[in-house]
Amino acid sequence: MTRPRTYFEDLPALHLEDVRRQVGGRRKLAAASSVTVLLPEGREVQITIARRPGVLGGEELLFACPTCGRPCRVLRIVQHGPGLTCTRCLQVACAAKYRSQVLQRTVASPAA
Ligand SMILES: [Zn+2]
Repeated sequence: MTRPRTYFEDLPALHLEDVRRQVGGRRKLAAASSVTVLLPEGREVQITIARRPGVLGGEELLFACPTCGRPCRVLRIVQHGPGLTCTRCLQVACAAKYRSQVLQRTVASPAA
């Protein structure tokens, strides 16, 4: 039995930039240890704000993936689990791919 492939493009995304704008700027986000996001189906998910040293000094703010804890910039909204996962979790859990990756592979290896 083959499961239909999950494409990242089909899953709604939550971008760090959007959340930063909503809380009222970088300084306000930096002061928070976590943010609560209301998902489309009415579920509330708390996301911890992760920090790591920025490339140009200072610190970079990131989401801590609610599923695995890995720092990431974009989370995908899913039906299962905590409701939000990073792309790596999705690749592990449902072998999700970007559509472009799948198409490239099909072109690169023509069927015998
Ligand atoms: Zn994750």
